[in-house]
Amino acid sequence: MAVCEVCGNDYDKAMEVTVAGATHTFDSFECAIHAIAPRCEHCGCAIIGHGHEAGGAMYCCAHCAHAEGHAELADRAAS
Ligand SMILES: [Zn+2]
Ligand SMILES: [Zn+2]
Repeated sequence: MAVCEVCGNDYDKAMEVTVAGATHTFDSFECAIHAIAPRCEHCGCAIIGHGHEAGGAMYCCAHCAHAEGHAELADRAAS
């Protein structure tokens, strides 16, 4: 049994996630995403895939990176 650090649920199927040496306990992926998923620097949404990284910041997509001045990222190859 372990208590989720986001919602406080004491759940027998809780999970532990280690990020940068710190271990966190959650009862669900939803709580884990809420607590530790990186946020898009432009729109603020939770990034749950690989994301896009430019200038030391994380973005959810090339559009958001472009909006912050990082024109080098693209969602697809030029055709
Ligand atoms: Zn929770
Ligand atoms: Zn975004």
